[in-house]
Amino acid sequence: MTQFTDFGLAQPVLRALEEAGYKSPTPIQAQAIAPAMQGRDLCGIAQTGTGKTAAFALPILHRLAETPRRPIRRGCRVLVLSPTRELANQIAENFSDYGKYLSFTNTVVFGGVTISRQEKALANGVDILVATPGRLMDLIERRSLTLEAVEILVLDEADQMLDLGFIHALKRIVKMLPKERQSLFFSATMPKNIASLADQYLRDPVQVAVTPVATTAERVTQEVIFAHTGAKQALLNHILRDPAIERVLVFTRTKHGADRVVRGLEKVSINASAIHGNKSQPQRERALAAFKDGSCRVLVATDIAARGIDVEAVSHVINYDLPNVPESYVHRIGRTARAGANGLAISFCNDEEKAYLRDIERTTRQKIPVAGFPEGFSPPSRQEAADNAQAEERRPAPNGQRPGQRQGQRPSSRPGGRPGQGRGFEGRGGENRGSGRPSRPDGAARPQEGRGDRRPAGGQGENRAEPRGEQRSRGPRPQGSGEGRAIGWLDRGPRS
Ligand code: AMP
Repeated sequence: MTQFTDFGLAQPVLRALEEAGYKSPTPIQAQAIAPAMQGRDLCGIAQTGTGKTAAFALPILHRLAETPRRPIRRGCRVLVLSPTRELANQIAENFSDYGKYLSFTNTVVFGGVTISRQEKALANGVDILVATPGRLMDLIERRSLTLEAVEILVLDEADQMLDLGFIHALKRIVKMLPKERQSLFFSATMPKNIASLADQYLRDPVQVAVTPVATTAERVTQEVIFAHTGAKQALLNHILRDPAIERVLVFTRTKHGADRVVRGLEKVSINASAIHGNKSQPQRERALAAFKDGSCRVLVATDIAARGIDVEAVSHVINYDLPNVPESYVHRIGRTARAGANGLAISFCNDEEKAYLRDIERTTRQKIPVAGFPEGFSPPSRQEAADNAQAEERRPAPNGQRPGQRQGQRPSSRPGGRPGQGRGFEGRGGENRGSGRPSRPDGAARPQEGRGDRRPAGGQGENRAEPRGEQRSRGPRPQGSGEGRAIGWLDRGPRS
């Protein structure tokens, strides 16, 4: 089996890997590192969780170490494009970890935070710049950044980049890059439009791929509990009272759904935070940090917000709502049982979601075992649940807020204005915003299609991705979704 030492990576890189406890390369690393070290272009099909970041970061650090030179003012030597801020942060963190014994500078830029600090960080140039496309364009337009000296380009999660409507920004960015460069291109799927983009941007690329089919992680024990919508919150509260559940990711289909679940947990004194596109960057970072350091054991997330989040030791994933895209299910449950640990994925399924469940089982070619209600749990009747929901609607919130309305947000003054529609939300959080539902990667009809009134509760179409305000894509509205892509796992066995 290939070892990291076989590649001839620079010593400081090997030392950092040893410290990180990496014993042997993952399959994508085994395929990608050697050609990338030689300066070849790369076209990789791989998802988050496969070790793809190290697959490009390690050879890049090696190449920089081989040809040390100062970056030009307001320029960078390596440009990594990422579709989301979470992923951008994670990539930059990985570069810092793997490069800790080298003295390269790395900076991450994305929207939603003040630009002036980023401009300052770029003033003297940086070796590695990780960026989301919208903010990158802003910086270029403000002449705070030039791409004329980029030696290596990485395009990460190209399919999501396109799904989020970044194609025009991307084309403009690539036009500004020197023709003489190395390009490393990664995508979870390789449909025609992505393949033709790769064709345009890559020169004689080495193709690398890891199991692109949707398979569920073997170490994840899965179960489904049938519960009507009104019983779901009480069921969740009951399950989470168990202290053995150390770190749990709860998925909802919508942003408002996520907030509602957090409020429901707080009512029974279970500390939880939500992460989704309506949250500001500092809120997201705080929630993620608290989840990572264990001070908050429950994180409630929407699919897109959770994408790319890599948190070790998530013991449980709970699908409060079943996703209407089967690949999202695979992606969600893959958040647990990482790095060789075991995990449990519990899905709540109401009557309307049974079609989604069938779709998931068809895609994963597995039957998900049905579990009964946990011991000691008796679900509220539908009537009780409906009464509770109504009471919640009428409940006067602390400091005059209405339920669903966030602090600092003015109530809507428009007649008929609904809670949660204040101006404070506008221009932010486009990540999940929108009215459509995600398209299926295979173009197949979705269960429940066209049955608007029977769509599962909370299905307000928030899964449709749009360019975020902060990322301000200059392109047209996205045509697809940030979620509708095939997600697969490569060998999730122990890496040794
Ligand atoms: P990624 O697919 O880049 O998001 O990586 C997924 C996780 O795998 C990250 O937590 C990495 O730190 C970890 N990882 C990457 N490569 C290796 C390796 N060779 N051995 C062990 N863990 C790894």
